Amino acid sequence: MDTYLIRTFGCQMNKHDSERVAGLLRAQGMRPVENAEDADVIVFMTCCVRENADERLRGQVASLKVLKPGGVGGPVIAVGGCIGQRDGQRLLDQLPHVDVVFGTHNISHLPVLIDAAYSQRKPQVEVLDESFEFASDLPGEREHPWHAWIPITVGCDNFCSYCVVPYVRGRERSRPLEQIVSQVEALVADGVLEVTLLGQNVNSYGRDLYGEPRFAEILRAVARTGVARVRFATSHPKDLSDATIAAMAEEPAVMPYLHLPVQSGSDRVLDLMNRVYTRDDYLGLVERLYSAIPGLALSTDVIVGFPGETEDDFNRTMDIVQRCHYDQAFTFIYSPREGTPAAEMDGAVDRAVVQARFDRLVEVVQASALNNNRRLVGTVTEVLFEGPSKRDPLILTGRTPGNKVAHVPVPPGRCADDFAGRILPVIIEEAQTWFLSARLGTNS
Ligand code: SF4
Repeated sequence: MDTYLIRTFGCQMNKHDSERVAGLLRAQGMRPVENAEDADVIVFMTCCVRENADERLRGQVASLKVLKPGGVGGPVIAVGGCIGQRDGQRLLDQLPHVDVVFGTHNISHLPVLIDAAYSQRKPQVEVLDESFEFASDLPGEREHPWHAWIPITVGCDNFCSYCVVPYVRGRERSRPLEQIVSQVEALVADGVLEVTLLGQNVNSYGRDLYGEPRFAEILRAVARTGVARVRFATSHPKDLSDATIAAMAEEPAVMPYLHLPVQSGSDRVLDLMNRVYTRDDYLGLVERLYSAIPGLALSTDVIVGFPGETEDDFNRTMDIVQRCHYDQAFTFIYSPREGTPAAEMDGAVDRAVVQARFDRLVEVVQASALNNNRRLVGTVTEVLFEGPSKRDPLILTGRTPGNKVAHVPVPPGRCADDFAGRILPVIIEEAQTWFLSARLGTNS
């Protein structure tokens, strides 16, 4: 087996895990390919948080049947991550041309499972209940040389009533602070400019190890390693402390961007969701954030159509979204996830009503994003360039400190790739809803 292809669904944690799978397969002497037809091994890193990721995975795996006529030969197909963890053998019963099912706790064992499936021509299913490894200790193959995902915790203790994560990723476990800092130091020495600290709820980092959260401390320690940019996700509003807000405000390397899921603006729905904060708690937090961190860009997640959501509940969500004037919101129509308390709740909201609410919400979010972007026109900011835009090789694409996409024309006589992995000042010239148009340079 010489070649592999990895397809990733879902969150940043899955992207990180995919980089580790790539590292493991590279260590076996394999190389990546772009097309399924050229791959000896195809790995799906899956997500079961949203129904559509679940469906897309099943559709994509089913479409590979043609590569294994009669179920023999063809690539080894492995399905891992949250769906592997949740479904185990059941996945194999539904998709019999799959060769390997693995979970969230045994990524390091994947090469062994692939080898066994290939040499014994027998499907392998291995799903463990808990983990004794952190995927970040495994060899990795970074998608961009200048960026690294750094899980600081895995799992989650919060049990929001709609969410499967605690069941498929297990209870929250933190990595020791010193280990994270030395990993970042090594990455900086290797040319990494930006790190993203990852956890389902980064704000409770350290509670299991040290008896109390130490997220503000790890944030400051990582910011002082010499790395140019530090980002983190995801923050649970109930655990975001004033010490963390101070660290964000005071450490120049910590980017002025925060993803702070609100989910609903109705206290009644927040209670049903088991979110453990009220709309007033959330609004107070946002006020403290905006006043402490100039230029903060804020994004959120919102669920529309949670069981029993009334028009009044939804209007409260619209109100909180308007008040927080987000730069971006990931809006989702509620879908029940098997095994969660919410899936057992009565009060399913009529599909057409949910869709109308969703459309109203999207309009408000788009208007707020555009309005915020317009305020940036004429200002100078720094962009970390990623390379040419997918649509136009003469346009550079990159991210501002506030995590906004910036498009900049490639200077005459230069190539877009020359700019990949560089942080340069730009002047913002035009605002669109989801990106900024800019040119290289400063006003001076
Ligand atoms: S905090 Fe809630 S929504 Fe986030 S992963 Fe944990 S249980 Fe799921």
